[in-house]
Amino acid sequence: MTRLEQLKEHLAFFDAIGGIGVNRDQVWRQRHRATTPASDGASTASRPPEADTPLAAEVVESLAHIRTDLGECTRCKLSKARTTVVFGAGNPKADLMFVGEAPGRDEDREGIPFVGRAGQLLTRIIAAIGLTREDVYIANVIKCRPPNNRNPELDEIQTCEPFLFRQVDVIEPKVVVALGAFAIRTLLHTDQAISRVRGQIFDYRGAKLIPTFHPAFLLRSPDRKRDVWEDMKKARALLAE
Ligand code: URA
Repeated sequence: MTRLEQLKEHLAFFDAIGGIGVNRDQVWRQRHRATTPASDGASTASRPPEADTPLAAEVVESLAHIRTDLGECTRCKLSKARTTVVFGAGNPKADLMFVGEAPGRDEDREGIPFVGRAGQLLTRIIAAIGLTREDVYIANVIKCRPPNNRNPELDEIQTCEPFLFRQVDVIEPKVVVALGAFAIRTLLHTDQAISRVRGQIFDYRGAKLIPTFHPAFLLRSPDRKRDVWEDMKKARALLAE
């Protein structure tokens, strides 16, 4: 890709997700040279078109099966305050999966992940790499809204995360993007700060996992959008392998 094409792409991304201007800092401008090459550990085989094979039905049914198991869940105290279980949405055979924290007020009302302001930004981030929400799968670690959006507690995480793991295993994405510190800590079982782990690529349940900032954080700290763009370019490169 030529420099001009890189610049056009970069500006298009910022335009798509709400631009904050061009950074004049020389170090920042040169940093793409130091970008870690995408990991070569992912499969190079492209996924076969399975829509008309028995496998597609199996995959869809397995997600349906997990949803049935989850049911109108009362396994933890979050069930008392929530309106709707927010299971996940998108392509059940997606190569790219996003994992967030927990539903907020809008998601609790609609039963769909990432439909509020942060969700609208996530939709623009997905569009910036040439995809739509229908191409990807979006889920949360926690399926019920914590009261007043408080942080999920350990017993809630431990009760809910097996459903997410099953979703990942059924979907078999090539790339999982973990959104925010909470998803990163839960998926990678790490206490490291998000600022240390983002930008790296991890092996995760047969996929490559890319930690990045949560869109809600980007709404508060728009200067970090450029980091997310770097991470999304890595995701795109892994998807193209
Ligand atoms: N934040 C999340 O982590 N998930 C959602 O679904 C909405 C907001």
